[in-house]
Amino acid sequence: MHLKIITHEKVVFDEDVDEIYTRGVDGEFGILPNHVPLMSALDIGVTKVVQGDQTKYFTTMGGVFQFKDNEAIILTTTAENGSDIDVTRAKEALARAKALLAERDANIDAKRAEAAMARALARLKATLNQ
Ligand code: ATP
Repeated sequence: MHLKIITHEKVVFDEDVDEIYTRGVDGEFGILPNHVPLMSALDIGVTKVVQGDQTKYFTTMGGVFQFKDNEAIILTTTAENGSDIDVTRAKEALARAKALLAERDANIDAKRAEAAMARALARLKATLNQ
């Protein structure tokens, strides 16, 4: 089966794969060849791709997953190959988000800080697995 991971800016991945594991808003799910057609809203998380004896990890930050006729498409806001992620930057983003959430200040946009924290955690998870 084939997988394309696309953002507004670029095609991040476009290759044949054997297995796909990703994170939908209702939880993680996996896709093997010949799966029935499926459409799911994606959460912020890590998408794992298996190609033979190789495994690759990508961050996928929301968007939509579509599978039909052995063609999978992930259309997402931001996606990065785990090997391209700047770990220091992700750790700094995580620390910033945690500090904001710890303030408990009414003026803080908690949802935004939580999303920033989820993005940073996904990035760190994707690099850990490289
Ligand atoms: P930061 O606060 O560090 O900017 P962010 O979560 O706000 O993180 P995004 O708005 O999700 O960043 O992404 C902006 C751009 O920066 C995107 O192109 C994204 O791929 C890239 N990017 C963000 N963090 C990293 C990282 N740790 N390593 C590599 N690229 C990153």
